[in-house]
This record gives sequence, structure tokens and C-alpha cells, in this order.
Amino acid sequence: MDNPVDPTLMDLADGRLRLRGGRCAACDEIHFPVGTACPRCGGDDIRVEPLADEGVLWSWTVQRFPPPSPPYVPSAAEFTPFGLGYVELPGQVIVESLLTECDPARLHIGMPMRLVEFSVPTESGETAVTFAFTPWEGHAS
Ligand SMILES: [Zn+2]
Repeated sequence: MDNPVDPTLMDLADGRLRLRGGRCAACDEIHFPVGTACPRCGGDDIRVEPLADEGVLWSWTVQRFPPPSPPYVPSAAEFTPFGLGYVELPGQVIVESLLTECDPARLHIGMPMRLVEFSVPTESGETAVTFAFTPWEGHAS
């Protein structure tokens, strides 16, 4: 795997990319990304644990204009629309994520999604790995 864009967000476990969530020892709330305090109760005993790598699409949109640069690297002329969504990891947390799909005809709320690696260009001209969710049709949910 290339270098992660942000190693605090994800890990490789058994060769599979997993997001790092934080579980509050006091109230059991799971949050992402991992913070120093629980967003529900303010507790500071946060245990890092891998989140599920499967979920369902909770909401989505298509980004049709370039984000501010930096941090976005490609020029406006190179921009292609991309999907942005919220993916619910059942019983855990809702995660904001890039989507590998940006065709509105192929996205619908409630569809199964799976976590994948997603390479992005960096300012140094190399690539780095971030995460995205991809439609997982065919999966019996
Ligand atoms: Zn808590």
C-alpha cells in the first residue's frame, strides 16, 4: 500500500484496509475519526478499534466543482466530478467518505457499500492512499 494520506484515519488489518474508530470506555459511543474526547459524554478514555468495512449508503451527493486548492491538488481543468457520501456502518457510526461512483443512476440510499483503498495525487507528485466506499451490489444484505 502507498503511504496513507492520514495514518490516524486508517490501518491495514490482515491485509485489508480498515478505518480506525474510537470507542468511549464510559458510554460505548463509537466515533470517527478518533478524537481525544467522546462526542457524546466528553469522556477521555477512548479505545481505538477497527470499524466495519461494510455498510449502507445513508446519503450522498456529487461534487461537480473543484474543491479549494490546496489541499486539492489537480488543477480545475483536470477536475472530474466525484461522489461524496455518508455511509452507515451498522451499529457503529456514520462515516463521511469519497465514493468511487458518481453516476446518480447508480447510487441510491440504503444500497450496500464496501470500503476500498483509493489513490490520490499528492503535491510531491506521488500518490497516497485514502479511503472510499464503493457500491457493493450483489451482496445479500
Ligand atoms: Zn462517551
